[in-house]
Amino acid sequence: MKIIDQLYINGQFVKPHGTEIQDLINPSTKEIIGKVTLANEQDTRDAIAAAKKAFKTFKNTSVEERAQMLQRLHDAVLARTEELNQAFIEEYGSTAMAAPSFTDISAKNFLLTKETVEEFEFTKQIGTAKVVLEPLGVVGMITPWNANYTYITSKLAAAIAAGCTAVIKPSELSAIQTRLITECLHEANIPAGVINIVTGTGAVVGAEITRHPDIAMISFTGSTQVGKIIARGAVDTMKRVTLELGGKSPNIMLDDADLNHAVPLALMLCFGNNGQTCMAGTRLIVPEHRLEEVKAMAKAALHSFKVGDPREADTAIGPVVTQKQYDNVQRYIRLGIEEGAELVAGGEGHPEGLEHGYFVKPTIFAKVTRNMTIAKEEIFGPVLSILTYKTEEEAVEIANDTIYGLAAYISSTNLKKASQIASQIESGTVMINGVMGDMSAPFGGFKQSGIGREFGVYGLEEYLETKAISGYE
Ligand code: NAD
Repeated sequence: MKIIDQLYINGQFVKPHGTEIQDLINPSTKEIIGKVTLANEQDTRDAIAAAKKAFKTFKNTSVEERAQMLQRLHDAVLARTEELNQAFIEEYGSTAMAAPSFTDISAKNFLLTKETVEEFEFTKQIGTAKVVLEPLGVVGMITPWNANYTYITSKLAAAIAAGCTAVIKPSELSAIQTRLITECLHEANIPAGVINIVTGTGAVVGAEITRHPDIAMISFTGSTQVGKIIARGAVDTMKRVTLELGGKSPNIMLDDADLNHAVPLALMLCFGNNGQTCMAGTRLIVPEHRLEEVKAMAKAALHSFKVGDPREADTAIGPVVTQKQYDNVQRYIRLGIEEGAELVAGGEGHPEGLEHGYFVKPTIFAKVTRNMTIAKEEIFGPVLSILTYKTEEEAVEIANDTIYGLAAYISSTNLKKASQIASQIESGTVMINGVMGDMSAPFGGFKQSGIGREFGVYGLEEYLETKAISGYE
């Protein structure tokens, strides 16, 4: 049983003023594995005050000093990789197969951010003005439970690189990952007050960060629904916001796609991380005349996606995170059936023998039409909807027929044609044949998938204010 009853404020582990205690539940077993004491408004204000004070000196640190901090953080998290992987598995059911990819990219991101800031030009000459990019101030960071650690580390790396200080409100469901990263911050000797961590609920800590006048910017990752609440609240004090929100990502299979590659990839893109990825390719858009072939191949490929204990090396799909999430996914599966989609695989209830956790049957629907709820709303569980098209124009139209625009996927053996289609897709990221972009490429959403970008130069610029000085010596 892990007892997490400390916050991290001004470089110290402190007891919260908050007294509410929340159970931490392992979604694979429904067992209570820990307890976290939640922060309250006073704790949040203490953290903001510490970050405000630290900013006065931190904003003047040299790029070299900040680059060294990123290096130390990289080394600290690398040394804790195994514990972090375990936390991913026991805290939200990530699989032993998937967890290392999260910890790996997070560690690498510290080094990439270090390289980015070392090469970044903080001063430019524009006409007769000297343009200086300065750190914004205290940044409030609010993160979701799915890969909470990855979002915390990417945001705090950018803040440190820019010379900002931060108050982080991680998901209250991810207190074990949060505790580990806090220990890494301490071990890496990050100056007191630069990064403060207050685990608590959105309604209490998140709301205090959103309304507080000393927060200059909010970097939020989470649902579109909560993103809108934060954006509205931030307006009162004119905070900058970056919002990394939900998605309903299309995956277009062009007529010439190699189905032996494209079909297993489509399942992986939708079912990876137990279907709980903002970028999940949940709408598979296939040529009408290849539907039967795709259905048969998808059903066959599903056998190689073992659902079960996430600790086992060959498990591809673990549980969803909470009872609430389980109920929500079941509701969507029921809706798919009621609204007339064809159930190809999966369906309601637990997979056989897995009633002891929040396990969902990976589900594939075909003959899904654009107006169906399962084609429109983010499910955040392993549910794939197959839609069909007659022409490529129609495929693009279906892909763009969504309020979201986070990611999109295209499978084709004709890279020129795939690139042309990519240029017509309304989303922040497009991957052709599953090729992942470089980690320093910008990541973020079009439309209601968000505002702003993370990673690399684009991510760093979000944390900087722009000043034009003229008439200088
Ligand atoms: P969520 O929006 O429910 O919660 C996210 C965070 O916001 C949590 O820390 C929560 O406590 C906090 N919060 C809740 N209410 C708040 C309020 N009123 N004021 C301030 N903070 C508040 O999301 P979740 O269920 O934790 O995560 C899943 C969602 O996150 C999905 O929609 C997914 O697509 C999205 N997501 C997006 C990205 C991306 O990069 N675009 C990445 C991961 C997850």
